[in-house]
Amino acid sequence: HLIYITSIKFQNFESFQKIKIVSFYPWVYGLYSHLCIQLLGMEEAMRIALIAHDKKKEDIIQLAKDNVDVLEQHSLYATGTTGALIAQDAGLKIKRMKSGPLGGDQQIGSMVAEGKIDAVIFLRDPLTAQPHEPDVTALLRLCDVKSIPLATNLSSAKYLLEAIRNGVYPNEK
Ligand code: PGA
Repeated sequence: HLIYITSIKFQNFESFQKIKIVSFYPWVYGLYSHLCIQLLGMEEAMRIALIAHDKKKEDIIQLAKDNVDVLEQHSLYATGTTGALIAQDAGLKIKRMKSGPLGGDQQIGSMVAEGKIDAVIFLRDPLTAQPHEPDVTALLRLCDVKSIPLATNLSSAKYLLEAIRNGVYPNEK
């Protein structure tokens, strides 16, 4: 219909071709995405990394349990121990990297650098010295470099998951 109206307005064939390319294909793609989301209930899945220092493990497990309905719709990644606990206690499918002190934070950092992670929840323990503190700092820095949503404590993590639940995505994505 759009093409038909456009062709009446632009009798000159070259102008019509240009308008067709500019207006038609994005229109079809937009309609297709809209139909997928509306008819199949598909939202674009996010790639979410979950990490917690030892004293915050219980918090992240409870957070995962409370948000299973959101998290199960996305691709989840975690450092080794955090991932094992979340999979076991919350029943979520999660791709596990190495344990944090053995390079897991760096592996997640590398994914962030490559644009393969969309959000990070990293429940840090600010009161205990960590042997792999440089890796932790590097990961947080890369999140800022790439402008990735990053929650480093429980309340900001709840905000972030609530935003994801409501389909609020950052403009940069
Ligand atoms: P972990 O690593 O999930 O293997 O315990 C977390 C961290 O300490 O960075």
